[in-house]
Amino acid sequence: MKYYILFGPPGAGKGTQAGAIAQKYNLKHISTGEMLRAEIAAGTELGKQAKALIDAGNLVPDSVVEGMIENTFNTYKNVAGFLLDGFPRTLGQASDLDEMLARRGEKVNAVISIMIKDETIKERLSHRAQIEGRADDANEETIKNRIATYHKQTEPLITYYKNNGKYHEVDGECGDIEAVRKAMFRVFKGIDRKFLERQVVLDDTLLNKIQMLAQESPRLRMNYDLRNTEEDQSQRLLNVMLPGTKTAIHKHNLSSETVMLMRGRMDTVFYNDKGIEIQRIHMGGDTGVFGVNIPKGQWHTFEVTELSIIFMAQDGPWSPMAKENML
Ligand code: AMP
Repeated sequence: MKYYILFGPPGAGKGTQAGAIAQKYNLKHISTGEMLRAEIAAGTELGKQAKALIDAGNLVPDSVVEGMIENTFNTYKNVAGFLLDGFPRTLGQASDLDEMLARRGEKVNAVISIMIKDETIKERLSHRAQIEGRADDANEETIKNRIATYHKQTEPLITYYKNNGKYHEVDGECGDIEAVRKAMFRVFKGIDRKFLERQVVLDDTLLNKIQMLAQESPRLRMNYDLRNTEEDQSQRLLNVMLPGTKTAIHKHNLSSETVMLMRGRMDTVFYNDKGIEIQRIHMGGDTGVFGVNIPKGQWHTFEVTELSIIFMAQDGPWSPMAKENML
């Protein structure tokens, strides 16, 4: 079973995006908020207890939502996994979830976070109140409290999941619903990458094969992931690039990057914050330069003058490039 967490502040669009993701990957979508609202509507004892807390913008006790989550895990057997929406919301819930899954011989596969600004949360919740009539969306005080609760109790989970390499973030304001959905599918594609039995010897035959794939690709380049397992959270890959391939000027804020040229001839170009070229490093041919160590936070791109193959290494798992990290 796969266990994915859909993370983000209230109003980020988790519920809006969940359906399409759950359908595509055959996951059971579990929204603790929706389950609690169903309990309230049915007038159950649990619903009665939860109502006052929810209406005030507070969280219900961990044990209540954890019980609902475990019941759902036990109920659905014919799915590829679960998409948790609105859970976990506290560090206690996150570690209890880890324990719950460990007991089942499972683990959290990935956290996909949709991030929006506080201002946007306010706008979206007030708007949603008019459409759905949710009591906890209607009142300005409640909205304020939900935002405060998010920052105080839920936001620390970002560090928790970053530390175990499971955190992936999508900008919830990068465009319309469709654009955010596409960004999320890109993340899933990255996480879902099939880990193949990788070739042990990296030889001419392998390079020629990747080279052929690059020639057939509209992007004029092709990666070969050198990792064998999902647990390997580094980035180590071969990249074949053909002349004409375009790499955006970008930077990596979390890790420096080592690039070693194995075949061909290329330039690594550094830029300042204004996009002005500040250094051009010619590599390959008779330059005597065969690699660069690009510092963390340095704007850069690659320009190939002939078919080139590089080995690239970086710390930390792959995640899609955020807009602010591209010039
Ligand atoms: P949501 O629909 O996810 O915004 O949830 C609505 C409300 O239900 C929240 O403001 C909380 O009061 C409660 N709730 C939902 N999920 C949780 C959770 N994991 N832990 C505690 N309270 C929750």
